Amino acid sequence: MTAQIETHEFQAEARQLLQLMVHSIYSNKDIFLRELISNASDALDKLRLESFRDKSIEGIDIDDLHIDLEADRAARTLTVRDNGIGMSRDEVVGLIGTIAKSGTGELIEKLRAARKAEGGDGATGELIGQFGVGFYSAFMVADTVTLVTRRAGRSEATRWSSDGTGTYTVETVTGEDIPVGTSVTLHLKPEDPDDQLHDYTSEPVLREIVRRYSDFVTWPIRLRTEKIED
Ligand code: ADP
Ligand code: MG
Repeated sequence: MTAQIETHEFQAEARQLLQLMVHSIYSNKDIFLRELISNASDALDKLRLESFRDKSIEGIDIDDLHIDLEADRAARTLTVRDNGIGMSRDEVVGLIGTIAKSGTGELIEKLRAARKAEGGDGATGELIGQFGVGFYSAFMVADTVTLVTRRAGRSEATRWSSDGTGTYTVETVTGEDIPVGTSVTLHLKPEDPDDQLHDYTSEPVLREIVRRYSDFVTWPIRLRTEKIED
């Protein structure tokens, strides 16, 4: 059973930052995965904390907290899934639709200036690295992002989706057996046949990016891709 799908507009700063991501010419797009894994890891930390405080939260297995990466080469999707704290519908709208972080305006200005000055790389990369553009960096590699999330302790789930332009949709999903936690599915931009090092449905590529950028993450990261004979 699904309730009505609502369309919302991104807040102005969010829209500007997203536009920079969608049209990104920054060459090190790999860092989107670091950002999504870092969010998943934070969500697992939060669930562990909350479970210490409130022993009665139902439907969670505190001994099996993990992050799953699932790639589907035929569908050209990559899903980052965690069984962490999840988000309520209000949290999704508040956290993903707006940017509460201070300094975002400054970041946008600096990114624009860096892009004008040197065609996109160098300083842009440092800026993205320093500030941690977060969730929106997914739009460097995806033309649509869908997020399904269920907050620990809640029965309903929320589905969020956007193509990174002005709007996103959000709907409450009830009656389906959606587990606690968050899954973020990237519908990857068309593949560049000359750039297999950045094929985010390839197991070795994903493994290397995880090794390079997410080595410090203490939660288990499981990798599942469809085995395709080359
Ligand atoms: P940051 O992580 O620096 O706060 P992000 O753009 O990466 O910025 O994420 C924004 C917010 O969205 C996070 O602070 C968190 O509250 C929420 N969020 C993002 N991903 C997840 C997730 N996998 N599980 C729960 N909450 C998430
Ligand atoms: Mg983050």
